[in-house]
Amino acid sequence: MIQLYIPLNFLGVLYREIKQNLVDLEKMFTLLSREREVADAPGAQPLRIGANSSVRFEDVHFAYDAARPILRGLSFEIPAGQTVAVVGPSGSGKSTLARLLYRFYDVSPEGGGHISIGGQDIRSVTQASLRAAIGIVPQDTVLFNDSIGYNIAYGRPGATQDEIEAVARAARIHDFIAGLPQGYQTQVGERGLKLSGGEKQRVAIARTLLKNPPILIFDEATSALDSANERAIQAELESAAQGKTTLLIAHRLSTVVHAQQILVLEAGQVVERGTHAQLLAANGRYARMWALQRSEPSSSSPAPAPAHPM
Ligand code: ATP
Repeated sequence: MIQLYIPLNFLGVLYREIKQNLVDLEKMFTLLSREREVADAPGAQPLRIGANSSVRFEDVHFAYDAARPILRGLSFEIPAGQTVAVVGPSGSGKSTLARLLYRFYDVSPEGGGHISIGGQDIRSVTQASLRAAIGIVPQDTVLFNDSIGYNIAYGRPGATQDEIEAVARAARIHDFIAGLPQGYQTQVGERGLKLSGGEKQRVAIARTLLKNPPILIFDEATSALDSANERAIQAELESAAQGKTTLLIAHRLSTVVHAQQILVLEAGQVVERGTHAQLLAANGRYARMWALQRSEPSSSSPAPAPAHPM
């Protein structure tokens, strides 16, 4: 019994870890043969996405555990091609928004509101088409136990080596990979090379650039990137986000300055919204956060990379 329990328990932990980290789970579900919490509705249709397809959250309520509401009536729209940034204290529900848009979880069943893309409720479309339309750079990327090249190419199976290298360059990870004895064939994961938090995030950025989807979710890591890489990658992401509908979850306010709209989230509710200039002029919570971050130069300097398990 114990012998059976340990591997099952391990799979449970692995499943939760990966789910939390917003990795495409299609492959893992097949491997683990786990029942999906979120399934395609009967007769679900592929998502149709056009040049004017905006993303809308309408009065969204959500709780991981019914006793503890996390999102409490959230509404906002990301017009097609624009960026909406979300800032707010740790635990306010920012990453939860990303998990709902990618449909790892559904809004609360009773009166939980709607999330739609181009007017289609995401619960009514196939998960495969939804996930094909969205690229995620999560806070903490989980990599497959495979080559680093495979881990990037996963963004678009069938990509050529030239295409893989081009996005790796854009994500500032090519030189690191090229310097490894086995280059793009280097195995990563439990049995291979361990990457730092920042390196894993750059792999995720490369993967997303290769996928080139119309909708982007960037869940900024608190400390995974050092300042030089952060600035370089921020420029890449800004250019990658050009013309894409982007949800940017940010810890550093410097990354949100150019967003068309900034939402300040507190305890699962939007307490302020506007552009950077409007929010500074309003002299409220955002303005205070901005003043605080500017007075703490250490907050934008590199923190030690967390020792994440692969
Ligand atoms: P941070 O800035 O620290 O990344 P956040 O604003 O992104 O925080 P979320 O990750 O959305 O916050 O979490 C919101 C709340 O939901 C937190 O209190 C967190 O503990 C809780 N939470 C997150 N994931 C789960 C889960 N899988 N099960 C139960 N509670 C969860």
